[in-house]
Amino acid sequence: MIERCQQFINGEWVDPATGNWFETYNPSDGSVLGMLPDGSKADVDAAVNAARSAYTAWAEADAVDRSRVLARVSAQVLSRLDQLAAIESSDTGKPLSQARADVRVAARYFEFYAGAADKFGGSTIPVPGAFLDYTLREPLGVVGNIIPWNYPLQIGSRAIAAPLAVGNAVVLKPAEEASLSVFELARICHQEGVPAGVINVVAGLGETTGAPLAAHPKINHLTFTGSLEVGRMVAQSAALNVVPVTLELGGKSPHVVFASADLDRAVPTILRSFLQNAGQTCSAGSRILVEESIKDALIDRLSAALRHVSVGTGVDDPDLGPVISAKQKERVNYYVDLARDWGASVISGNQPPHTLGYFVPAMVLDGVTEDSPVFREEIFGPVASVTAFNTEQEAERLANATEYGLVAAVWTRDVGQAHRMARKLRAGQVFINAYGAGGGVEMPFGGFGHSGYGREKGIEALYHYTQLKNVAVSTL
Ligand code: NAD
Repeated sequence: MIERCQQFINGEWVDPATGNWFETYNPSDGSVLGMLPDGSKADVDAAVNAARSAYTAWAEADAVDRSRVLARVSAQVLSRLDQLAAIESSDTGKPLSQARADVRVAARYFEFYAGAADKFGGSTIPVPGAFLDYTLREPLGVVGNIIPWNYPLQIGSRAIAAPLAVGNAVVLKPAEEASLSVFELARICHQEGVPAGVINVVAGLGETTGAPLAAHPKINHLTFTGSLEVGRMVAQSAALNVVPVTLELGGKSPHVVFASADLDRAVPTILRSFLQNAGQTCSAGSRILVEESIKDALIDRLSAALRHVSVGTGVDDPDLGPVISAKQKERVNYYVDLARDWGASVISGNQPPHTLGYFVPAMVLDGVTEDSPVFREEIFGPVASVTAFNTEQEAERLANATEYGLVAAVWTRDVGQAHRMARKLRAGQVFINAYGAGGGVEMPFGGFGHSGYGREKGIEALYHYTQLKNVAVSTL
């Protein structure tokens, strides 16, 4: 029996106003997992109105009470780890252990922002004259949040936990390819005491559900995670209503590997950074820049490591699962062919055990030149390019030679070189002798350039989900 999901609006499960649903698939075998509501402007209007009505009481609640609700959500997410991981793995195709890690991160978001809710506030400012001057951090109102399919549970959790902690209400629009875990998250939030209307989930297609949310005159902030192309459109829509936007877009994040690097440490981390989630991570470490003198050694190690990458369906918990859709598989193959046309050689890992599902093998593209489109454009698959450099200056230039600037890593034993590079790299996060795609819940995350603007995660996100009021009191 294929389940029909309903929209979650004002604490109730309701059919979409269109009366239509569409299928959502398991990328591991193409089987139909469920029916998602085909949302529309009417659903978005209902959700935004519900959020507006619920907002004031939530904003005026004691911060400690909001904190306790979020803490209960965190505990409940963790207690349902197996169930949520199974949903996430079948909906996105990601290996089960990756899905389990995602559930833990989801719980951690609620835990982190529960802890922050009653510790975040304004400051006092020493001004001349007889004044007490202080600032208040006030919630914005209704936050619209449009999220992608690659980490629905993780990104959905940060899309709820951070704005709610500081008193906002949320309308969340998950991606049409993978929405199931986000509905479960809404169910948990409601059960654990998030009041009706404070969190609403409206699923549907980008043009018919995402676009009306982005253009809605009654939202007060918009957060978008996804492609550059759509990010530009939603920012334009929001601008017409003078609504502030946080944009988390793509990346082409470099590993800069100097000759002194410890390759025993670097290689497994680099591999994981572009294979995790089948490379469908905005902060994937997909561009390897390596000092010419150790390039052959690095390629040899990467080739050997690729032979040990297991490929299979999400629930079998391989190292590498399928990509999300037939379209995404085509996109990856298109870029691999393009790399070949531009003179790169392709080193492939193991083939999937069967042809069902949207599988591509792990691949390293050796000899990608700076002028090749593959050097600059995001592939969003389990593929990394390799390009050699000879000097630190050249490494810096190559690392910064894309429009993106999300994450970068430097691999070196030279401490001075590590810090010089950290200063020079155009990226929102820099790792030294390490890589954590996206970093931890605590680290501010966001991009330079076309990777977007604004920051999510950490305390920093709370500045984006509040507005500042200055109060000047005469003490005469
Ligand atoms: P997308 O930008 O099309 O979709 C992301 C979200 O935006 C989804 O919820 C979608 O329904 C919504 N959306 C689509 N069109 C919209 C519109 N006109 N108005 C408002 N919302 C709209 O991304 P995609 O098609 O899922 O993936 C395409 C590419 O985006 C990927 O190959 C990758 O480069 C990038 N991407 C980045 C991330 C990230 O985490 N930064 C995640 C997924 C995809």
